[in-house]
Amino acid sequence: MKVPAFCRSSLRFGFTILAFAVCAIATQAADKIVVLKAARLFDGKSKTLAQNGVVIVQGNKIVDAGSNLPAPPDAQVIDLGDATLSPGFMDGHTHLTLDFSGNYNERRLKEVDLNVSEQAIIATRYARATVEAGFTTVRDLGSRFVGSKEFVDVALRNSINKGVIVGPRMLVATYGIGATGGHFDPTSGFRDMLFGHEPDFSQGIADGPDAIRKAVRFEVKNGADVIKAAVSGGVLSLADEVDTPQLTPAEMAALVDESHRLRKKVAVHCHGDQAAKEAIEAGVDSIEHGSFMKPETLTLMKNKGTYLTPTLMATEWIMSKIDNYPPALQAKAKAAAAARSDMFRNAVKMGVKVSFGTDAAVFPHGQNAKEFKLMVDLGMQPMDALRAATGNAADLFGIAQKTGTLEKGKFADVIAMPGDPTADITATERVSFVMKEGKIIRNGPPSAPPVAVSADAEPEIPAD
Ligand SMILES: [Zn+2]
Repeated sequence: MKVPAFCRSSLRFGFTILAFAVCAIATQAADKIVVLKAARLFDGKSKTLAQNGVVIVQGNKIVDAGSNLPAPPDAQVIDLGDATLSPGFMDGHTHLTLDFSGNYNERRLKEVDLNVSEQAIIATRYARATVEAGFTTVRDLGSRFVGSKEFVDVALRNSINKGVIVGPRMLVATYGIGATGGHFDPTSGFRDMLFGHEPDFSQGIADGPDAIRKAVRFEVKNGADVIKAAVSGGVLSLADEVDTPQLTPAEMAALVDESHRLRKKVAVHCHGDQAAKEAIEAGVDSIEHGSFMKPETLTLMKNKGTYLTPTLMATEWIMSKIDNYPPALQAKAKAAAAARSDMFRNAVKMGVKVSFGTDAAVFPHGQNAKEFKLMVDLGMQPMDALRAATGNAADLFGIAQKTGTLEKGKFADVIAMPGDPTADITATERVSFVMKEGKIIRNGPPSAPPVAVSADAEPEIPAD
């Protein structure tokens, strides 16, 4: 029986009977056992589903998981029926403090208009929608407000951890690191000196290896769990080409070395093939997007064990709303969308490691699970897609010892979806039960539908 630390110290000092009573209550609460049952169970790593799934939870941890396990006496049993139990989903690429899903120019104006504190409060809705959709852990790869030096992602993460608000476990990147005029330069596309100065390391903008190191150190100092950088151009930026390299090999080497020395993983935004090759050689942990990567680059990735985070939902959303974007961005989006399907098919065929990731914020938060069907439609086996969002993601995030699988000793991050997701992968979009660290966040219909600030952002993507 686990006795809370404060109880042990009270006992050691021989305190009163009252202390005893308080400890007994606390111990009792911590020992409460909840048994989750469903017709099937996906454990986050196996190649097949188990039948008659059972997960036994005590406090915030899993005590046992498997088939046909007997419920301990006095346990609370929650039978979810014809459903599949799974580890909570993990999204390797979100931006929970932002919303890019509406009209591009309106959003840009709003970006310089909206008070950052107001945006932070709105972001609490995005966090809730995400966890209610079954995503109990996310990497938040970049949070930035032009002209402001706030760390809203750090605040959101901390507020969730303290139980102030409800949301997924977050690994945050603070500002994306990038070159002057590159994809992450917040002043790109605005009149020169509109904001009075060129952005520097304190907003993630760095040129040269030493400046990159300083940016990494500054971000870790301010709470970054993971380092994000843009090594090639991007779709939703006005002053760059989508596939040109934006960091030199020497800058990438400094980025990876400094981040790894500080035990942080490196995720790089990269569409272009040359930049991807250089980044993989430099030792980054994941390539985000990777639209134009050629088979030769994918081979390099496979050999180095670099993860791909495909973010298929981002291009899917942009293409379905293409008129919302200026002509220059439309051209970049079309080129990336045309290339990414072949790239992803090749990556799957070649056995490149894939972590689930969506770029949520490009589309309304809470629709993350739609990525599963896009992955399966491009040739990924449903079980592999499910593993990408659980065990594999946990491996990339560096937290596989704590979560990502339904195993004894892991956090009780457990979800359930109706039916069999290997027969119909869209079951992932109808998660009906969410538990995070032993706390039930919902059991039944969601209270938070997909959310977006933009009035013109519709909750559904039209079928193609
Ligand atoms: Zn992104």
